Amino acid sequence: GNVSQIEKFSSQIKGADHKALEKIRNIGISAHIDSGKTTLTERILFYTGRIDQMHEVKGKDNVGAVMDSMELERQRGITIQSAATYTIWKEHNINIIDTPGHVDFTVEVERALRVLDGAVLVLCAVGGVQSQTLTVNRQMKRYNVPCLAFINKLDRLGANPVRVIKQMRSKMNHNAAFLQLPMGLEKECHGILDLIEEKAIYFEGDYGDKIRYDEVPQDRRAEVKERRHELIEHLSNVDEALGEIFLEEKVPTIQDIKQAVRRTTLQKTFTPVLVGTALKNKGVQPLLDAVLEYLPHPGEVENTAILNENKDGEGQTIVLDPARSDSKPFVGLAFKLEVSKFGQLTYLRCYQGMLKRGENIFNARTGKKVKISRLVRMHSNNMEEVNEVMAGDIFALFGVDCASGDTFVNDGKLQLSMESIHVPDPVVSM
Ligand code: GDP
Repeated sequence: GNVSQIEKFSSQIKGADHKALEKIRNIGISAHIDSGKTTLTERILFYTGRIDQMHEVKGKDNVGAVMDSMELERQRGITIQSAATYTIWKEHNINIIDTPGHVDFTVEVERALRVLDGAVLVLCAVGGVQSQTLTVNRQMKRYNVPCLAFINKLDRLGANPVRVIKQMRSKMNHNAAFLQLPMGLEKECHGILDLIEEKAIYFEGDYGDKIRYDEVPQDRRAEVKERRHELIEHLSNVDEALGEIFLEEKVPTIQDIKQAVRRTTLQKTFTPVLVGTALKNKGVQPLLDAVLEYLPHPGEVENTAILNENKDGEGQTIVLDPARSDSKPFVGLAFKLEVSKFGQLTYLRCYQGMLKRGENIFNARTGKKVKISRLVRMHSNNMEEVNEVMAGDIFALFGVDCASGDTFVNDGKLQLSMESIHVPDPVVSM
């Protein structure tokens, strides 16, 4: 995807479609090994789809606030096992796409990065920017993926988020600034300070899963003011609207700042930095809120396909329409084949139009027809059958004979592919 033309592009989508698109996030989580990517993913899955389920089972009216520790213990070990895992947070559909972060410049990585619209870059508060952090950072830059940074492991001895953010600036060239500050490090980590809203978020309960909002403690107010100013300064350098407010010495509102964070994150001129301790469930819910607030939805990312490609790999580049309707032909990209416990699965992302169970689609490379007898969405622990999918959705099909990278369309005569059929993968030099 390409987020550079977002404003022009998304304004072309009609109002109603836009509303539906705003409820989707396709994200990846990337990190240097051991930074806590798996732990964070587990916690995210725990707080999202799982909480919805428990809500149904137990009928609790304050779910999300209270979760007993036994239950949490039982949930341990849930891991993302599929190429894409579907979950729900605050009425938004989130697909977490598995990114093979340790390998660089492969077609596999390219596809995973193409399918996601934004990412969370996890860093260790002790280790900071490490070798694979640089690798995944390079990948995200190369594929134009906007990202949020999450500095994890605040509870570890020697945790130093300020040093980590300095490394992000010097080693990765990120215009990064804190959106949050820790309240206490190492053993003392009991909450975070939200710099934009100037609020304290306390994590309570044995597993930090209960959240309490309060005023910023007296002794931290000066520091919050100072860091908030630093954040606004970083944003003003790259955001015209906020820059103007800043120059005129007016006071930006919370909305002014949030909108500037969103715009600059999408433009990749700014990296918001959040903090927490995934292991103890601290900072995970605020991170999820930031994913909804600052990472793009599918309508904000431009995707293209090649029409009528000839043997030399030349054709007409067309911009796919992300509107959630059937007004345009279906276009889907198979990005991963996987043998799961349910059988042979092919993961696709729908980029245009819609697809219903019972319909036929065609492999643009081979011309082969595929009858869609089952459409499924993978959750962390189960599989959901769905009747239809639309632009922006990620789903899986059973037993489709195809290759990863194949494009599917619902019109057998349409010569349209998202990946060039005739040209070999380019050799990339660094
Ligand atoms: P990955 O390799 O990035 O997927 O990292 P893991 O999620 O497997 O975590 C690596 C190790 O760090 C495991 O032993 C985790 O229990 C531990 N870990 C993860 N998050 C935290 C954290 O917030 N604090 C501490 N102290 N340890 C953590």
